[in-house]
Amino acid sequence: MTGTLYIVATPIGNLDDISARAIHILKNVDLIAAEDTRHSGRLLKHLLVTTPTQAYHEHNEQQLTVQLVEQLRQGKRIALVSDAGTPLINDPGYKLVSAARDNDIDVIPIPGACAAITALSASGLATDSFIYLGYLPAKQEARKKTLFECRHETRTMIFYETPHRIEASIQDIGDVFGEARRVCVARELTKQHEQIVCDSLAVIMHRFKDGTLKAKGEFVIIVEGNTEDISIDDAELLRVHEILAEKLSPKDAAALTARITHSKKNDVYKLALENRDR
Ligand code: SAM
Repeated sequence: MTGTLYIVATPIGNLDDISARAIHILKNVDLIAAEDTRHSGRLLKHLLVTTPTQAYHEHNEQQLTVQLVEQLRQGKRIALVSDAGTPLINDPGYKLVSAARDNDIDVIPIPGACAAITALSASGLATDSFIYLGYLPAKQEARKKTLFECRHETRTMIFYETPHRIEASIQDIGDVFGEARRVCVARELTKQHEQIVCDSLAVIMHRFKDGTLKAKGEFVIIVEGNTEDISIDDAELLRVHEILAEKLSPKDAAALTARITHSKKNDVYKLALENRDR
């Protein structure tokens, strides 16, 4: 009998945000693999969990994965926790889960807090379609490049940010997306100094400048997706359509061209018909 790997979400601030099921699992597994044993130790002590812990972080991930998978193969039950929130979401664990799956070991998620989803749920921005992009690059040039690549993104975008880069990132988001774009800055979620401010980038920048939004603590930035029509010239539209129409029916080519260029299918189809006998 192989063992089981539990992926246990822990609170992102408020210690009451742990599920009864998570506590039960943490008390009953053979081992808790923790990103930082000292950090998790405080939570475990609070929960009266006495299960042994083992450090599992980015520096020993490779070597520890082999050891933990071996223990799982021998039938051990292991819980993986990170410092806060859901493991693997900008936290260690991917290699372990992947290796466990490769070895046909059961992987059971114990859901709970995740800063990205917590912020999104209170942002007032569209939740039907969103994209999680983790941390923006630290260096401005790379950050602006990443943002520029997102300029046509219509889905709501979620970023994590640190206190020392939050203002620079907000400024860069404003430069690339325009200051009218709506954003939600979620600071210190579930903690004493929680602040969730949703407004245009212009207002958010002003709030940082006048100190009513503080650059302290942990941040999630939620950015509204692009809602404006992206103008792509007809020649480019026709070129894409022509290439696709070599393999597809004119209608399918129009549908795909519309998706690629963020245009309307009927407009592409009409344009292609008008230019058929050029
Ligand atoms: N695994 C975590 C999760 O499920 O959200 C994320 C870990 S990542 C290393 C840490 C980042 O998550 C922080 O820098 C911040 O951007 C975001 N974060 C974590 N806790 C937060 C909180 N209470 N309020 C706002 N953002 C938070």
